[in-house]
Formats: sequence, structure tokens, C-alpha cells
Amino acid sequence: MSPAATPNPLRQASYQASAHDSAQLLPDTGREVAFAGRSNAGKSSALNAIVDQRGLAHTSKTPGRTQLINFFAIDADRRLVDLPGYGYAKVPPALKRHWDAFLSRYLETRESLAGLVLVMDARHPLTDFDVQMLGWCRAARLPVHVLLTKADKLSRGPATAALHRVERHLREHGLAGSAQLFSALKKDGVEPARRVLSGWLGLEAPGGRPRE
Ligand code: GDP
Repeated sequence: MSPAATPNPLRQASYQASAHDSAQLLPDTGREVAFAGRSNAGKSSALNAIVDQRGLAHTSKTPGRTQLINFFAIDADRRLVDLPGYGYAKVPPALKRHWDAFLSRYLETRESLAGLVLVMDARHPLTDFDVQMLGWCRAARLPVHVLLTKADKLSRGPATAALHRVERHLREHGLAGSAQLFSALKKDGVEPARRVLSGWLGLEAPGGRPRE
């Protein structure tokens, strides 16, 4: 079957459950891919573009409000996980500590986690949040794919410079990772992102290898 005729199984994603701490996570079976990003980076818009559904992940109107981990089922064995993002000064320190502890532990210990999609605003990549997440991915030996989104707001030169900066960071920090430009608005980069997710979830290559 030609790639053009292949349906996008990610379109089947549907809301499954929410959690606000480790105890409420779904059972650690099958495979999942998580999305993270500093608040307002464009994570919800990227997730919606990739699954080709307008309102699956809710775009944030209130930066820093209490957030949940949302699970979206693709099928019985595969999930997408929308992790909380933060980064605004108004997030209370106790809440930031809660999410820091949760995120580092989740990335380190979650057996079903095949990879992390880290969404960055292409105009401001590698924020403190991003660098911290990448550090945890390296410690956990977890593959990471960086989406440099809102690329439509940049012309070609600065967009390429941002991509090279992130690729260099991944290389220099010994991360198993890749990066690409993305625009939820223009739907640019959606197919390459889907390919990474499908590979991690074993959707195209049954038995495909998750984390090392
Ligand atoms: P989140 O907080 O990371 O989930 O970010 P959202 O997806 O809610 O997006 C934050 C803001 O950026 C919203 O106003 C979106 O409309 C806007 N946005 C998200 N993605 C893009 C994009 O690719 N291009 C442009 N121009 N704006 C975007």
C-alpha cells in the first residue's frame, strides 16, 4: 500500500483519562508517547494538528493554572499523553515543585513510554523548562523529538538557525534525539512528526523498537 493510501491511525485518538499525580496514571502497559512544552509554546495546537482533530487537546487560555496529565487512547495498547507545561512566573513554587518531581520520575520510570515530543516555540527555543526536560530525557535514556513550532512566524534564515541550534544542543548533550520545524497553523511538518510517533508506537512497524 502506498503511503498516501495509509490512513492515519493517530486520528483515532480519543480522550481516555486524566491524572494529577503518579498514583492516578493509567497502568504502565503497552506503549505511550508523551508531549511536553513550556506553557504557551503551542503544545496543544501541535497535538491537535498531528491527530487531525480540532479540539482533542485544549489550547490554554490561562497560563499557569492547575493542569492535569491527559491520556488519549489510540487503541487498546497505545496512548498519547499530554503532560502539564509551565514556565510563567505566576506558577506557585509549590506547584512547580510538584510537577518537577512528577515529570522527572515519570520520564525515568515509565516503562511504556517510548519517546517524548518536546514542543518549543521556534522563536524562543531551549528555555529553562526545555533544557531541564532534555536533561531528564538524557538521564532516562529516553528518545526525544523536538517540534519547533510557530515556524510560520519566522522567515527561513532564523527558522533554520533555530533548528541548527537545537540539533547542536542535542548532539553536544549526548541526547538520542531529533528536531524539526513545525507549524500547527500552516500544518507544516505534520507528516514527519506523525512518522516519528508512528515509529515509537509501533504503528507502522509492528515490533518496532521503543526505548533503548
Ligand atoms: P500550549 O499552552 O503550549 O498548549 O499552547 P497552545 O497550543 O494553546 O498555543 C498557544 C498560542 O499560540 C495560541 O494563541 C495558539 O493559537 C498559538 N499557536 C500555536 N501554534 C501555532 C502555530 O503553529 N503558529 C502560530 N502562528 N500560532 C500558533
